[in-house]
Amino acid sequence: MLQSITLQAPAKINYLLDVISKRPDGYHELRMIMQRVSLYDQVRIQLTYSPDINVYCDSKNVPDGEANIGWKAAKALLEISECRFGCEINIKKNIPVAAGLGGGSSDSAAVLLGLNELLGLGLSRGRLMIIGAKLGADVPFFLFRHTALAEGIGERLTELTGIPDAWVVLVNPNLPVSTAWVYKNLQLTQQKPLATIPDSFKDVASLCHILSNDLETVTIPAFPVISEIKNELVSNGALCSLMSGSGSTVFGLFNDEATAIKASDVLRNNRDWFVAVVQTV
Ligand code: ATP
Repeated sequence: MLQSITLQAPAKINYLLDVISKRPDGYHELRMIMQRVSLYDQVRIQLTYSPDINVYCDSKNVPDGEANIGWKAAKALLEISECRFGCEINIKKNIPVAAGLGGGSSDSAAVLLGLNELLGLGLSRGRLMIIGAKLGADVPFFLFRHTALAEGIGERLTELTGIPDAWVVLVNPNLPVSTAWVYKNLQLTQQKPLATIPDSFKDVASLCHILSNDLETVTIPAFPVISEIKNELVSNGALCSLMSGSGSTVFGLFNDEATAIKASDVLRNNRDWFVAVVQTV
């Protein structure tokens, strides 16, 4: 039996998402603060004697096979290794899909890390990040493994050490949002002055001062419930709340677990929403 490995692929939230300009290649120049949280997909990779790559996911909203971003990651590393093996990848999805939480990119980063290990390739993290950047804009961040300032299209990463830990309530109203659609509908206004990011924050409340997401201007008018969730989080004890990425997940930041759990119970309130209490990691 060939070796297998199981990895935990975390979700991310954005504390800051500034869209600076549209580049001639169609991508947007961004400035983001990205934070991993303790909500994980489980990614199991099994090497196989057959050279095929098979990807299976337990979510009906995620494609199996070649359309899965994890497949592309496996293809890239198997090509580099020049070995005769293939692999079977099983993804247990806990991160809501098309939700602004970076689940696909995180799965893809896990496949790169897992196959690097299983195939004994010894590729450096920097090399994996270069490979990952071709798979998805957020893949390098998940390989970086630190809270980060992400610039360019998200691939230029700087570690941020002064960000306080927080309890986080994630709320997704089961409305998948296409990131491509959001960027297509974004109206870039006059260049706005960029807020200065302090080197460190004394507590979660001071982190709240910089929370901002330009993509809310597109997603919230289309899905006003996002604004209602933000308000409901704050009226139930969140120090602040914001939409993550292109949405539709909203997060609220809390100092303590008890208040976060209480708020999550109110938000859940028999609605068919995804609600989770997590921590920054
Ligand atoms: P992004 O901002 O990068 O689009 P997101 O968190 O909003 O991220 P994802 O959950 O990564 O969105 O899913 C984006 C799309 O990618 C979905 O439409 C989904 O069908 C497709 N996809 C392909 N592979 C995966 C995967 N392993 N996990 C999640 N989605 C995947």
